[in-house]
Amino acid sequence: MTGLIRLYNSMSRGIEDFFPEDRVAVTMYVCGPTVYDTPHLGNARPAVVFDVLAHLLGHVYGPEQVRYARNITDIDDKIIAKAAERGVSIDVVTNETIAEYHAIMDLLEVTQPSFEPRATDYIRDMIDMIVDLIGKGHAYVGGGDIYFDVASNPKHGILTGHKQEDLEAGHRIAVSEHKRNPGDFVLWKSVFDETQPGYDSPWGHGRPGWHIECSAMIKKTLGKTIDIHGGGADLRFPHHDCEISQSCCANDTDHLARYWMHNGMVLVNGTKMSKSLGNFVTVRDAIAQGYSPQTIRLWLLSTQYRSPLDYTATNLVTAAQTISQWHRALDGIDAAPEYNEYAVGTLNALKDDLNTPLAITRLHAAMTNLGEAPERVAAGVRYAASILGIDLTDNDFYLRGPKDEQRMLVEQIIAMRNEARDNRDWAKSDDYRKHLTEIGVNIEDRGGVSTWRRI
Ligand SMILES: [Zn+2]
Repeated sequence: MTGLIRLYNSMSRGIEDFFPEDRVAVTMYVCGPTVYDTPHLGNARPAVVFDVLAHLLGHVYGPEQVRYARNITDIDDKIIAKAAERGVSIDVVTNETIAEYHAIMDLLEVTQPSFEPRATDYIRDMIDMIVDLIGKGHAYVGGGDIYFDVASNPKHGILTGHKQEDLEAGHRIAVSEHKRNPGDFVLWKSVFDETQPGYDSPWGHGRPGWHIECSAMIKKTLGKTIDIHGGGADLRFPHHDCEISQSCCANDTDHLARYWMHNGMVLVNGTKMSKSLGNFVTVRDAIAQGYSPQTIRLWLLSTQYRSPLDYTATNLVTAAQTISQWHRALDGIDAAPEYNEYAVGTLNALKDDLNTPLAITRLHAAMTNLGEAPERVAAGVRYAASILGIDLTDNDFYLRGPKDEQRMLVEQIIAMRNEARDNRDWAKSDDYRKHLTEIGVNIEDRGGVSTWRRI
């Protein structure tokens, strides 16, 4: 074990040792939310995954050495449509949604990144970058819009290997008669109706394309090149290919990020959870169903980040049981989080391309030593859990505090058990009873009515 962090790099398609470019500070950028609605579980996954990576980098390099930017896209067709539907300005929609996003991130214990640039604060920087691209022959004017000329960059598509001939409309690529090539993408969109949201530019009233936002914000907040660029796997193409082309061509660099990381999607019955498909569960919905934010966070980490993650009640109940078990095991042991030998196994699992399922297993394993050195073990596992973003310090509150969330979960499991009993599925009914026992609840059946109490 070398102690190095190893990460899967989507660019090289292999696991690589991680070294920051300047050896001391680490720069990381993650594509953040487009703010027009409360986040769903699919939106929460990259925020939680890269939060764990930020904690891990902080552990190795020192928290103040990690410069982490996660942007907010606050100008977009969906935002404009939402504002029009509500009859309010886009600022009302974006400010409300950003406040809601922050509230959800707080619940999930996602640490605020070092920078949270809002696209509309960087319009000037986007315009400057577009002017650079035009000057260098990488962009052109077509019908009042500005397009990036993919043919001008022989390395375009380097991340995914998609060729411009493969491009089809539908991948957030608009078809336009003004494009030289179908793969060309818009950098600046003219808005001819001056009453519609837009900004002054050398090309008149208009607004930026989505891809240029990230390129401009990366340059301004972190620099021309960065160490790690993250985001959902669905952003690889075309978004990240476009970011790379724009940034490299505008900044005269041969790369944008040295490590590209992509999290897998959250799936519902095998289909990606998304707002447009309508199969989404918001974080608030999940909490209302009785899953505590800690449970949701642990569930989000129960699968390695590159794999798809299935949204099922069983998986969430398992996470709830684990959290409850951990709190019960540590209950009454007075020890502040501290990095020691009982944290090492968990941290090593995280250093291995954020192997969170193994980290969770190792946290369990470390707790089996509680009998021999309770304070030391508790200190180590509380530290390791804090890197996962799971707070195991306040066991008393978790076990004996107000329990509305757990109450709802218990009642849901009892309802599922009653259904199994109605169907004479005794094995399933027993499983539910076992689940309840594991989360510290006793159930009694009397006269066809089930009552429960905490063990
Ligand atoms: Zn982006």
